[in-house]
Amino acid sequence: MFGGRSFKWEQLKRAFISIPRDFFTSNLLTHFTVLPPSVLVYNVTFRCNMKCRMCLNWTKKEQRELTASELEKVLKEGELFRRIENVSISGGEPTLRADLPEIVEVLYNNLPRVRKMSIVTNALNTSRVVKQVEAIARLNLERNGLLSIGVSLDGMGEFHDRIRNVPRAYERVRETIDALMELRESVPFSLGMGTVVVADNFSELNKIVEFCQQNNIDLSFSILRFSDSILGNEALQSELIYNEKQRAFIGKFFHQLLQKSSFIDGDGYLYMHWRRMLLGNSKRTMPCPFMDQGIQLNPEGNLYYCEMSKPIGNVLQESAKALYYKPENLEYRKKLVARKCSSCLSPCHALVSVRKKLYPYAGFVFYLLGLKTARLIGIIGE
Ligand code: SF4
Ligand code: SF4
Repeated sequence: MFGGRSFKWEQLKRAFISIPRDFFTSNLLTHFTVLPPSVLVYNVTFRCNMKCRMCLNWTKKEQRELTASELEKVLKEGELFRRIENVSISGGEPTLRADLPEIVEVLYNNLPRVRKMSIVTNALNTSRVVKQVEAIARLNLERNGLLSIGVSLDGMGEFHDRIRNVPRAYERVRETIDALMELRESVPFSLGMGTVVVADNFSELNKIVEFCQQNNIDLSFSILRFSDSILGNEALQSELIYNEKQRAFIGKFFHQLLQKSSFIDGDGYLYMHWRRMLLGNSKRTMPCPFMDQGIQLNPEGNLYYCEMSKPIGNVLQESAKALYYKPENLEYRKKLVARKCSSCLSPCHALVSVRKKLYPYAGFVFYLLGLKTARLIGIIGE
């Protein structure tokens, strides 16, 4: 079993060997050449069996999805993906794809440098989720990979049902969590929980923290964000965007979490930045691998530079490599970075960039050291 800290240590251990190369590539080489992607987000389907308040994927008409063999062809063609190290599989609800284990196998077969595979699930259908996670975890064990399964939980009991708009959702998700906890005793993977902070679940946040601590489950909070390329929810922005009072509440909550963070706790790094951005309207200084070495593939084959990007083409019509390196697309990425990154709240693999660049992490260590010292000598309270 991989519990929270041991999984993080294992990740650091595996990244350690490439520190000099990553540091050189991400701090220097990136200014002189176009880097190939090292991070991939693959949304395997936009079908979903939930109807969350903050997402409109479930309203989408069924659309074409790349088959496992089409995916294999895309990954092989032009070898754009050979340097991918981190893969996030998301949706929609990924486990609705009956061939999900086959997709993961195709990814392992064609991404020789992959280190970590993450899959996010709403965990609503216990038997389906557990069956697929078991198959994937066994494959992962064979390939000596690092697998992280993230379950979405937005509140305890009826809070979760209300936000997810599905009766008995909480009960069913808890059944899945129990079954996954049992499964990780026999085949190793990291089990994490992901909570989107929305106005409706403020009263639940501490309860979720407690639940995860009691069960040795990693917990990551994320900020509500609006992106048509992953959640189809830009139309909800005016209704759901945080007001000033809500920003203040979240800032205070993240401050409490930060005080309890450890120095290897990447999530603490995110909370520090989000707090600054939400409270002070300050600009994003947190790095993001999608600025220069990330790629997102959507179910129908559309390719994006990141979740805030417009589609740069479709891999069924043109090779992913041609699309990624096309001069007009690269020009578009430069403009995207200049216009959107400074206010972007996406956590999207930010910690991968932090590990590669190193210096942002030093800033976090000093900040946390100061915070813990101030708390110890009583300058600040909870
Ligand atoms: S947030 Fe996730 S689980 Fe909820 S409707 Fe959207 S895709 Fe489905
Ligand atoms: S807009 Fe956001 S997700 Fe896209 S590259 Fe910038 S920081 Fe990353």
